[in-house]
Amino acid sequence: MVDSFDEPIFVTRPLLPDLHLVNERMREIWDCKWVTNNGLQHKELQEKLMDYLVTDHLSLFTNGTMALLLGVKSLHLTGEVITTPFTFPATLQALDWNGLTPVFCDIEPDTLTIDVSKIEALITEKTSAILGVHVFGNPCNVLRIQEIADKHGLKVIYDGAHAFGAEINGKPVGSYGDMTMFSFHATKLFNTVEGGALVFKDKSLVAKLDLLKNFGIANQEEVVLSGLNAKMNEIQAAIGLETLKLMDEERKKRHEVKKEYEKQLANVPGVRLLTHLENKASSYQYLVIEIDESSFGQTRDWLHECLQHHNILTRKYFYPLCSDFTWYNHLVSAHPRNLPQAQKTVKEVLAMPFYGDLELASVVRICNIIKKYQASISGVAL
Ligand SMILES: *Cc1c(COP(=O)(O)O)cnc(C)c1O
Repeated sequence: MVDSFDEPIFVTRPLLPDLHLVNERMREIWDCKWVTNNGLQHKELQEKLMDYLVTDHLSLFTNGTMALLLGVKSLHLTGEVITTPFTFPATLQALDWNGLTPVFCDIEPDTLTIDVSKIEALITEKTSAILGVHVFGNPCNVLRIQEIADKHGLKVIYDGAHAFGAEINGKPVGSYGDMTMFSFHATKLFNTVEGGALVFKDKSLVAKLDLLKNFGIANQEEVVLSGLNAKMNEIQAAIGLETLKLMDEERKKRHEVKKEYEKQLANVPGVRLLTHLENKASSYQYLVIEIDESSFGQTRDWLHECLQHHNILTRKYFYPLCSDFTWYNHLVSAHPRNLPQAQKTVKEVLAMPFYGDLELASVVRICNIIKKYQASISGVAL
C-alpha cells in the first residue's frame, strides 16, 4: 500500500489564536506589569468563561489536575471514592494526593462512562463521593448518579476535561453534581496552553478555592490553611481570551470532520464510532473508534501500527487502565474480574486524528487506508 502521508498526521493540533492579537494583550500585561495573582486578563477570562459555560461560580487554575486535586480537597472528603478505571491518570492522582482510596467501578459499553448499575454495590460506610468522567465528551448518566448520591449522602464530582462547552439534556455539563473540572491543556478543545477550571454549586467554595490555590494566604498577617500554588497566570489567561473567540468556528469545522469520518467508516466491519453526539450535546473533543477483533479480523494494536506506517499517528487512549497501576492493582475493586467491560474496552479503542484544520481529503485518505487493510484481511478485493 503506497498511500502514505509525507508529513505525520497527529491525533490533535493545538488551536492557536492570531499571534498579533496575543501580542496586543502581551503589551497590556507588560504595560501594567501585573503578570499573575488575579490580574486583569484573569478577571476577564473568568467572566467570559462563566458566560460561555453558563455558571455562577468558576475558579481558574494553572492546570486541570490541580483544579481537580484542590476541588476534591475543598469538599473535605474522607475514606473511599467510587470512580472509573477508564480515565487519564490525573483523575486518580487527584484522589491519591488527597489520601483517598479509589473504588473502581466498571464502565458502560456505549458511553464508556461509569456503569451506574454497579455503583450501589460498591458503597460502604467509608464512601464519601462518586467521581465520574465524561469520557471523550460522552456524558455520564448524571441523573442516576445524583439519585444514588442523594440516597446515600455522597458528593458528586465530574472530571469534565473532555466536555468543555457540551450540554446534557439541554443543560450545561457543569450544572450537574457538586463540581466539574475542565482542562485547558493544549490538546483540549479550548486551551490556555496549560490551564484548568472548576465550576461548582456551593458559593462558599469561592473563597476556599482562592485560598487553596494561593498557599492558604488570607492576608499579610495570616496563613489559614495548607494550600498549594495553583494559580493561572496572566499569559495563560490572555491566550485563553483569544482562543475563546475561535471556539464556535472550531466546533463547526470539527463537526464537518466528524461527519466525514462517519460517512467514510459507516460500513466498515468491526469499526464503530464511540463519539456520536453532535451540535450542543457534543464537546467535539475527540473522535474515537472501537475495533471489534472478531468482525474486523485484527486487533486495535495491529491497526494502530499499520496506520503508523502511513504516518498516521493515532492514540490508544486511555491505556493502560488506572486500576492496573502498581499502586492500585492490589485493591479488590481493581481486580480484572471485577472490571470486565473496562478490560475489554481498553484493548479496543483508538483515538483518530481530529482537529478543525484536518482536511476532509485527509480524512478520506485515512479511512480508505483502514478500509483497504480491513478488506485485505477478509480477502475482499477493493
Ligand atoms: C487532560 C485530562 C486531565 C488533566 O488535565 P491537565 O489540564 O492536563 O492537568 C484530567 N482528566 C482527563 C480525563 C483529561 O483528559
